[in-house]
Amino acid sequence: MAKVVGIDLGTTNSLVAHVSDGVPVVIRDASGDGLVPSVVSLAEDGTFFVGREAQRRLLTAPSRTVYSVKRFMGRSLDDVRDEARMLPFAVHQAAAPEGTDGAHGGGVVRIALGDREFTPPEISAFVLRELKHRAEEYFREQGEFDFEVDRAVITVPAYFNDAQRTATRDAGRLAGLEVLRIINEPTAASLAYGLDAKNRGTIAVYDLGGGTFDISILKVEDGVFQVLATNGDTHLGGDDVDLLLMEQIIDAIGSPGLPGEAVQTIRKAVIQAKIELSEQDTTDIVVPPVLGLPNGFRKVLTRAAFEALIQPLVDRTLAPCRAALADAGLTPVDIDEVVMVGGSTRIPLVRRAVEELFGRTPHTGLNPDEVVALGAAVQADILVSGRREMLLLDVTPLSLGLETMGGVVSKIILRNSTIPASGREMFTTAVDNQTAVDVHVLQGERELASDCRSLARFRLRGIPPMPAGLARIEVHFQIDANGILSVAARELRTSIEQTIEVKPSYGLSEGEVEQMLIESFEHAEADFEARLLIEARNEAESVITATEKSLRRPDLAEIAATELPEGELARIDTALHALQAVMPLGDREAIQASTQALNDATQRLAEVAMNRAVRGALAGKNVDAV
Ligand code: ADP
Ligand code: MG
Repeated sequence: MAKVVGIDLGTTNSLVAHVSDGVPVVIRDASGDGLVPSVVSLAEDGTFFVGREAQRRLLTAPSRTVYSVKRFMGRSLDDVRDEARMLPFAVHQAAAPEGTDGAHGGGVVRIALGDREFTPPEISAFVLRELKHRAEEYFREQGEFDFEVDRAVITVPAYFNDAQRTATRDAGRLAGLEVLRIINEPTAASLAYGLDAKNRGTIAVYDLGGGTFDISILKVEDGVFQVLATNGDTHLGGDDVDLLLMEQIIDAIGSPGLPGEAVQTIRKAVIQAKIELSEQDTTDIVVPPVLGLPNGFRKVLTRAAFEALIQPLVDRTLAPCRAALADAGLTPVDIDEVVMVGGSTRIPLVRRAVEELFGRTPHTGLNPDEVVALGAAVQADILVSGRREMLLLDVTPLSLGLETMGGVVSKIILRNSTIPASGREMFTTAVDNQTAVDVHVLQGERELASDCRSLARFRLRGIPPMPAGLARIEVHFQIDANGILSVAARELRTSIEQTIEVKPSYGLSEGEVEQMLIESFEHAEADFEARLLIEARNEAESVITATEKSLRRPDLAEIAATELPEGELARIDTALHALQAVMPLGDREAIQASTQALNDATQRLAEVAMNRAVRGALAGKNVDAV
């Protein structure tokens, strides 16, 4: 049995959900927590940490811990240079893969994690693997065995371009998941609220997360969603709220240059207070004593004061909302439904501002940080059960075209076309006896090829020599339901044809993905072995410590003389030295065997020690008391 899940791969947090008896539910860990922070950390010994544990390591091992990787998915270094400056980890550009256009920043970015480097899809794959693992644990606990979570629907922001979607799909593959469909986050949220059941309507999806704000205007008609417009701010979210509160506290404390640990402790305290203020009118910000802040800090914060502080941030979300409405040719009264997404929309002031702008009460019945994953699960269920045929239409965020004579772009699929989409155009040869033409695929709104983004180049060869202008070359663009582009060029007189799936020059090539898959399997094994070795060493350490402690007992000589067989202490000593000798070697099995031998050798001594301890504890107490 194979299982399908829906995944919200977020900038700050990720979640996995599935449909059980027709109802979508978020899969939680034992403590009831559904969120997996999108953070990955690599320990010196090669162990990977993902989620909460990795998040804790942001403080202790910042150079080995990465977050916000979604910002880098499918992007070139040029795209993310400013972004990278704001983040504490190193981001490099790999060389452009062969056959792609390096001039446009070709090659995939690589992020340093300790002494290794990873591409954004590889890092996202760690998060996805964690979610897959979490889901498998969950199904096992439900008493289901013999299955694998092998397929998923993954969500992306509506504005994600071809390269970003492809990178997300690659991440899924690297994590061992067949990605059934990439769907838009606002569409998923609308699905979770069942808005696909409407005959027709216009939906505004307001998504304020940890570090990003997105507004999407969707149209739904007969179960078909279409994105009419998107807008937002890629640097606006809950993190900014946290920063404002932190600044206020650091000002009040009046000691600049606090150590990192103190700053992180303050961050934790303000997040706690912020979350409380979503439910209550007043709260205490409590910063416990920490290095650099020996007396801690305490301050009462009312919701009114909090709202005054963050009002400018909330206001900053309104202009993009108006712009999206204008792009869609709509005004607020045209909006039938408003859906709230993202943890930061739990803030009452945010809800009020949105309600005021659109003049209607937003949907808030589902957890705003879970609603996207729930919708993804619904879509996954629809796809595998065949219960309902549902198209999820989407629009291309940028125009797609070809470079023609003189470096001019000829647009073939226009911006905001609904997908799946296709377009074709006829070309001919420019010089006599030309036997090949270069096809250069571009994305962007500008007129000159040099101002647009180069997606791919290929060459149609084998055109029979003929006078210029006689060849009839048809170029066909096709964008599939996932927003992935393929381009075919054909000479109609001879029917020679060339097709490529456009892997943008800053995406991963098929070969690279294959290689990463192999490496990730190899490393998975190496990582696992590394972990086993660490565990074996830890176990050995504790047995050594316990043995050394026993050997220091003041009554040792007396025990040996009265209660142990002849030569027992010498045998223990030999076993102890044998284990100490194998410890520095990387041989796990030898360490385990020697640990076992030492355990056996000390068994009787341990029993005697135990008996004496019990007798000692009982001495002076009557039996009833025990
Ligand atoms: P993303 O989509 O960016 O991955 P989420 O939708 O999970 O992020 O939102 C995370 C943000 O929501 C964080 O800044 C977090 O502090 C904030 N948040 C979560 N719960 C609350 C709450 N009850 N009140 C205010 N903010 C909250
Ligand atoms: Mg989100």
